[in-house]
Amino acid sequence: MSINQSGWRPQMTAGDGKPAAPTATGNKALMLEEALIFEIGDTQTTGVDFTGIDAAAPASRLGGLARKAAIGLPGLAEPEAVRHYTRLSRQNYAIDLGLFPLGSCTMKHNPRLNEKMARLPGFADVHPLQPVDTVQGALEVIHQLAHWLVTLTGMTSVAMSPKAGAHGELCGILAIKAALEARGEGHRKIVLVPESAHGTNPATAAFAGFAVEDIPATADGRVDTAALIARLGPDVAGVMITNPNTCGLFERDLKTISDAVHDAGGYVYCDGANFNAIVGRVRPGDLGVDAMHINLHKTFSTPHGGGGPGSGPVVFSEALTPFAPLPFVEKQGEQFVLIEEENAGEHHAGSFGRMVAFHGQMGMFTRALTYILSHGADGLRQVAEDAVLNANYVLRSLEGTLDAPFAKAGPCMHEAIFSDANLAEGFSTLDVAKGLIDEGFHPMTVYFPLVVHGAMLVEPTETESKAALDQFVGALRSVAERAKAGDASLKTAPHFAPRARLDETQAARKPVLVWKDAPLAQAAE
Ligand SMILES: *Cc1c(COP(=O)(O)O)cnc(C)c1O
Repeated sequence: MSINQSGWRPQMTAGDGKPAAPTATGNKALMLEEALIFEIGDTQTTGVDFTGIDAAAPASRLGGLARKAAIGLPGLAEPEAVRHYTRLSRQNYAIDLGLFPLGSCTMKHNPRLNEKMARLPGFADVHPLQPVDTVQGALEVIHQLAHWLVTLTGMTSVAMSPKAGAHGELCGILAIKAALEARGEGHRKIVLVPESAHGTNPATAAFAGFAVEDIPATADGRVDTAALIARLGPDVAGVMITNPNTCGLFERDLKTISDAVHDAGGYVYCDGANFNAIVGRVRPGDLGVDAMHINLHKTFSTPHGGGGPGSGPVVFSEALTPFAPLPFVEKQGEQFVLIEEENAGEHHAGSFGRMVAFHGQMGMFTRALTYILSHGADGLRQVAEDAVLNANYVLRSLEGTLDAPFAKAGPCMHEAIFSDANLAEGFSTLDVAKGLIDEGFHPMTVYFPLVVHGAMLVEPTETESKAALDQFVGALRSVAERAKAGDASLKTAPHFAPRARLDETQAARKPVLVWKDAPLAQAAE
């Protein structure tokens, strides 16, 4: 969206449908309007005063690689650049600003202790190409974290290098593929994926060359175990099951399913992104899982945007361990050693290869290990219990206001799910989400999972107090009541945000990612 600086005024209403007086600047008190950096900075100027080039300066050493034309960067002085990005950052919502109810994302508070540890120079400044004898401490962190992940999940080994949940899924599926090929059963091409699985699951299986078949969900929001078992056979490579699933429910039949899949010669991939709900309570290894990714950036803090990139280590059963990717950290005597292609030897001959160039996200490893050690076994268990308690508090507080399709069947796990069933004619989940923005909250996850019509998925996490939950519940209840009463002003919400409703279809189909006046073609020459 580009802004016409001269004539642009935000659309504002006072919430009662009447337009509020626009300000001359377009600013709304401390919420400052901000144009694109190219619109603020003139590409013909620079923010720095250079004196003319000294004629006696040495000749160019660029050997013909000198830039041929201006690259069109906006010329801003440092304070202008700093203000630009600070203003933009103030238009953002963050976990450090308020409750972030985004279901399936585990947007929990990011303890500052983690940050302090991750910034220790011995961790923050290491380089992946340093000789291993100079990074023994960093390798010990990876090794210890690996130990705790294997212990918490009851599995045999872990690949630390995948860099996100979806990347971990790919890692797990590639290990399954390698295991099948090693058995001479590469013809098993079907991966079964329940409707209640996360969307990345079928995408991963398809990306790795498998054909995906859907398994229906039951009326209570869980995988249809009988349908899944009936579909097993010699063409099935395995299943991908999200547990707890994306309806916020525990797949109680997972052990039965795993046994049946193994009997039929397949493998069980468990999407462990929702591990927060069961950490310290359930060990996926006991349920027959063969591979599972853990989103360190969900369960072990540092949620998206919370201070670091993601990290998706994958734990493996004994059956899949020989096929896990390199590298590994191994303790040999008193030394921590990186097992790479050169020194892998016979022991890792079955490895399917590598996921990444180096060893994973060091900053995330340090944060996750800090989180695990500072909580201890009892603390981690309490994380899961409190996350489930908070979600059930939200579910029971709102089930009289919003339709809660699975509430009658019993408690939820870490997230509460609602539908659009009892909103007024013409009102949708989107209207409720937009109304929540005016109330100062990031909306919950909407229209996901697909098994619930107009789904609203709320994951409060364990780090919210009862007071914070009450405030959120009050806001959502108020907006929901307006949507049930057919309050027309909700159809144009948000009214107090820097932007109102965007054309989301246009933004997704035809995103404008490049400043149109930038002489990029020239710059690339
Ligand atoms: C978040 C999530 C993923 C994907 O994880 P990324 O780190 O975003 O790639 C996969 N499955 C489930 C259930 C998730 O919640």
